[in-house]
Amino acid sequence: MSKPVIILGGGLWGSLLAYRLKEVLPLVDFILYEESSTLGRHEMWSFRESDCGKALNWLRPLVTKSWRQYQVKFNSGKRDILTPYHLLDSKKLHDLLIQKLPAGALKLNNQISTELALQEGSFVIDTRNICHFRKTGYRKCLSLEVECLEDHGVESPVLYNEEVMQKDCPRNLYYLPLSPRNLLIKDFWYSNDKNLNLDEMRRALSETLASYGWKIHKVIKEETSVTLLPTSRPVFRQEGRVINLAGIFHDTTGCEVGSAAKLIDKMINTSFRFGELREVVATYRNEIESDRKFLRLLNRLLIEEKQRRIFEVIYQKANLNLLDRSRILMWKLISV
Ligand SMILES: Cc1cc2nc3c(=O)[nH]c(=O)nc-3n(C[C@H](O)[C@H](O)[C@H](O)COP(=O)(O)OP(=O)(O)OC[C@H]3O[C@@H](n4cnc5c(N)ncnc54)[C@H](O)[C@@H]3O)c2cc1C
Repeated sequence: MSKPVIILGGGLWGSLLAYRLKEVLPLVDFILYEESSTLGRHEMWSFRESDCGKALNWLRPLVTKSWRQYQVKFNSGKRDILTPYHLLDSKKLHDLLIQKLPAGALKLNNQISTELALQEGSFVIDTRNICHFRKTGYRKCLSLEVECLEDHGVESPVLYNEEVMQKDCPRNLYYLPLSPRNLLIKDFWYSNDKNLNLDEMRRALSETLASYGWKIHKVIKEETSVTLLPTSRPVFRQEGRVINLAGIFHDTTGCEVGSAAKLIDKMINTSFRFGELREVVATYRNEIESDRKFLRLLNRLLIEEKQRRIFEVIYQKANLNLLDRSRILMWKLISV
């Protein structure tokens, strides 16, 4: 009897891949391994409709909240961007997969090494984000889910809100209205160093929220993270019969839903054999490399030259055309 495919890691990538396999290629025998007790580790992922292409059709049942548009706010003014914006809640994905997958196809609370996975399976799809970058900046985030005392009055998500520079770090306040009183707020600081001073970030955020007139009744959840803002290509291990999905994300925003959905679509469109899948993933990495190279240049502008204007293009468009790129290169020339 042939061995199953092993999907290593039940985060965003592993869970979406399992979900889609079950829907489109139900005869593919696979086992999804996740070391924690829940798929997606209680995360919420948001995405612009324009980032997903046709994959939106199958993502839609997983969406927990949608808005018809979003906003970006610069010191020079605000703009409504008429692209729908959606939220995926890992809880929904977790519940659906528990229902859909046959016994034995999902192993929660199960940590497995690559070596063991290779022994157990015909090949391994490693979805853990294990890679590094020779040069990188950092995106530090203080994230709060809050309930306000009164209606906050925010109707659509604000993906970019230009805030004062904080200790020489460009800063972006991002917020999503979850209900008339509840908000998901992410305060991003972009920096060359990875040290996160929580007291300082809390103080700055509470001053900012007070200046907006929002009175916080309850903090439902507080999380911090430091993620990479690459200024060089990802480096990852490529070994044996392992397909490595590490390091595929939007280099400037860090978002992954768009890339994950698009690449999973391509993977599902194959016979799901090792050689073909490895080819599809390598081709996808090459296809997106030219855009990524440009985003890494933007990251350098952001980190080294504190050029916050790059957000004017990043958050207003899904794909940068030649004109956008030329504009940004002009800023670079002017700033040198
Ligand atoms: C503050 C913040 C906000 C973000 N917001 C967004 C957003 O709005 N939209 C968006 O698209 N992206 C967003 N991202 C990025 C996105 O959340 C992550 O990049 C994404 O969750 C990564 O998914 P993954 O499947 O690649 O990796 P992971 O989520 O790291 O999944 C890997 C999984 O593998 C499991 N695992 C690890 N080792 C083993 C092992 N040995 N055996 C078994 N299981 C193992 C882990 O428990 C984990 O569940 C955000 C990130 C941060 C930090």
